[in-house]
Amino acid sequence: MAQEDVFKKIVSHCKEYGFVFPSSEVYDGLAAVYDYGQNGVELKNNIKEYWWKSMVLMHDNIVGIDSAIFMHPTIWKASGHVDAFNDPLIDNRDSKKRYRADVLIEDQMAKYDEKIEKEVAKARKRFGESFDEAQYLSTSPRVKEIADKRDALHERFQKAMNDMNLEELRQIILDEEIVCPISGTKNWTEVRQFNLMFATEFGSTAEGASKVYLRPETAQGIFVNYLNVQKTGRMKLPFGIAQIGKAFRNEIVARQFIFRMREFEQMEMQFFVQPGTELEWFPKWKETRMRWHQALGFGAENYRFHDHDKLAHYANAATDIEFRMPFGFKEVEGIHSRTNFDLSQHEKFSGRSIKYFDPQTNESYTPYVIETSIGVDRMFLSVMCHSYTEEQLENGETRVVLKLPAALAPVKLAVLPLVKKDGLPEKAQEIINDLKFHFNCKYDEKDTVGKRYRRQDAIGTPYCVTVDYDTLKDDSVTIRFRDTMEQERVKISDLRSIIEDKVSIASLLKKN
Ligand code: ATP
Repeated sequence: MAQEDVFKKIVSHCKEYGFVFPSSEVYDGLAAVYDYGQNGVELKNNIKEYWWKSMVLMHDNIVGIDSAIFMHPTIWKASGHVDAFNDPLIDNRDSKKRYRADVLIEDQMAKYDEKIEKEVAKARKRFGESFDEAQYLSTSPRVKEIADKRDALHERFQKAMNDMNLEELRQIILDEEIVCPISGTKNWTEVRQFNLMFATEFGSTAEGASKVYLRPETAQGIFVNYLNVQKTGRMKLPFGIAQIGKAFRNEIVARQFIFRMREFEQMEMQFFVQPGTELEWFPKWKETRMRWHQALGFGAENYRFHDHDKLAHYANAATDIEFRMPFGFKEVEGIHSRTNFDLSQHEKFSGRSIKYFDPQTNESYTPYVIETSIGVDRMFLSVMCHSYTEEQLENGETRVVLKLPAALAPVKLAVLPLVKKDGLPEKAQEIINDLKFHFNCKYDEKDTVGKRYRRQDAIGTPYCVTVDYDTLKDDSVTIRFRDTMEQERVKISDLRSIIEDKVSIASLLKKN
């Protein structure tokens, strides 16, 4: 199946099974805004819990906060967002579609890489067993020609972005003959800058109202609370502050489902360190975060680091953790060495000292910061994309199963009475009443047991138990395992010990 079709299926699966709905759907939706349904919210909460615990419980020098979405407007002046949180946009006059100029060019660079991959695949077929990829890549004139074009484009693009040279970005699009994917034409407008922050009015009277922004990142709430937390928590460097919360960006191109939303959620951690040690901490956090991702068991080959060529105005090192989505490797998390830029700016704009007094050196200084920033929704999407599986069964049927890591699954155990009578529903309820204190259990009595299994497969429930007539005699049930579909007879009193450990967030944390 084409990857595009797989993605479409995932999107409709998310809706059909109560994971993600388009926002305001009865009014035909609101672009790039989504609601999480009854199963989606559980999965999302589990992702957040996994992240929160990995930061705040697993590190004795990291604490959490929850800052307000509204903040003093000067914060966004100080952070540079009012002046520089822009994307270069370009319109196609024929389709009337709007694009990010930088994304059009990045996609073009990816096309050169795809061409090289195709050449390699062709050569592998031609040479068979004796094929040496490294040698082919370094000697093939055709590969060299494509790679030279890509590198020249890369260099030109990087310079244009660093200088924010909008005319040059447009010229690159024209020179590369990039066409609009909808109209297929090269009828492009000028490139313009577009600020991504949402603004609103604050205060009740017209005269007293002032302009405030919906925060475009959660990080600034951490920076402006740095001193509060450091002092009240008697924190010593190095230490971190973690936060999970909503962020808002008026994205130019908002397609691809929950990958790029206008309202989304971030999990950010700012790690404050002694100046000069930040580039020692940077690789440590890269490694720690990659371990967190890989503990989910999706396979190391599906992740990669992408180091940034163009550093943001505040950073001295930056990388993305990318995950293989059906539409290519895409950023899920950013790790940035943000220097002391933000704290210094807030000192400057507020006129207050935001320094750390180091008892060891008897000096005061502004700490440097390593930031890890991950989107909850993008993480959700990567989990969904990796878990969605269509299996061909021996009897010719197709089974759709979400192979979610058990610790993230919305429902851990479904309890199914074989029939709706003779005391079986009551017995099933009894099991739930006992186990619901420990993990999320659901009761289902509608349709055949086979259909009920399929429903649970589709939402990723790792365990189902069936209550039958023997259960009433010997207190045993049939447990069925989602991935293997194997069934076993077990005692009701053993259920908790069979399931609890495997579905706990602790089981993931231990793999970190
Ligand atoms: P992109 O280049 O894709 O626009 P970014 O580099 O601007 O992303 P950051 O500012 O580093 O993103 O934000 C950190 C994380 O927040 C990203 O890695 C991503 O997971 C998430 N994120 C950012 N923008 C969005 C969005 N519009 N919708 C959903 N998640 C987002």
